[in-house]
Amino acid sequence: MFVDSHCHLDFEQFDRDREEVLARVEKDLHWAVVVGVDLEHFPRITKLIENNKKLYCSVGIHPNHEVTHEASAEKLVQLAQHPRCVAMGETGMDFFRDHVSQDLQTARFRTHLQAANKAHKPVIVHMRQADEPTLQILAEENVQACGGVMHCFSSTVDVARRALDMGMYISFSGNITFKNSVELREVVKFAPQDRFMIETDSPFLAPVPKRGKRNEPSYVQYVAQCVAETRQMTLEDVGAISTKNAATLFKVTQ
Ligand SMILES: [Zn+2]
Ligand SMILES: [Zn+2]
Repeated sequence: MFVDSHCHLDFEQFDRDREEVLARVEKDLHWAVVVGVDLEHFPRITKLIENNKKLYCSVGIHPNHEVTHEASAEKLVQLAQHPRCVAMGETGMDFFRDHVSQDLQTARFRTHLQAANKAHKPVIVHMRQADEPTLQILAEENVQACGGVMHCFSSTVDVARRALDMGMYISFSGNITFKNSVELREVVKFAPQDRFMIETDSPFLAPVPKRGKRNEPSYVQYVAQCVAETRQMTLEDVGAISTKNAATLFKVTQ
């Protein structure tokens, strides 16, 4: 059994068959984190998790999400008081797309980190084509105090080492299974035993052999399989260790 440390089960891609997807979560997973991308839909997430004991959530605004109102640190802290909210985010920097200016992304990221430190919750960090500014802000805002995870890690061993040095966890998603992700699998080998976790980021980025299809939390088993092969561990050990790591960071005791 596994933990999916990052999914978007509230998204409309699951509207058609959410009950069936949730039945597979019940069967295949210890638990999963439904990650927020804006505040507008946060009530939709809390409604979903309140009806399912295996689901936890996070609260935040995605770096590239256009919103009419930015969130204050106070507001984020307040929303994070939900008893099953385990993290702040997803937040970070994403220069791959430019729906949101880099200045605004920077300000938003800092607000989330300050809120995370106030609320004593770890941060879920989204970093895409913005390694240097992301690492810099993490250091400046003292991420070491609240802790966090680099979700869907897609960078180099060097960047992973620098994040690990700040106490961060590294979460691997479906892209580690892609044929040309040779460099990324070096990071999978490199990550310390007590600092890696696994995720789907579903509905996006389905792992091989489901690549191209809609992703879902139970497919985290394929990510685990790739981690097991790459690190030469058993699938059971990958499940147990990544679950323990996620439980430690998110302070989940089930
Ligand atoms: Zn993300
Ligand atoms: Zn996400």
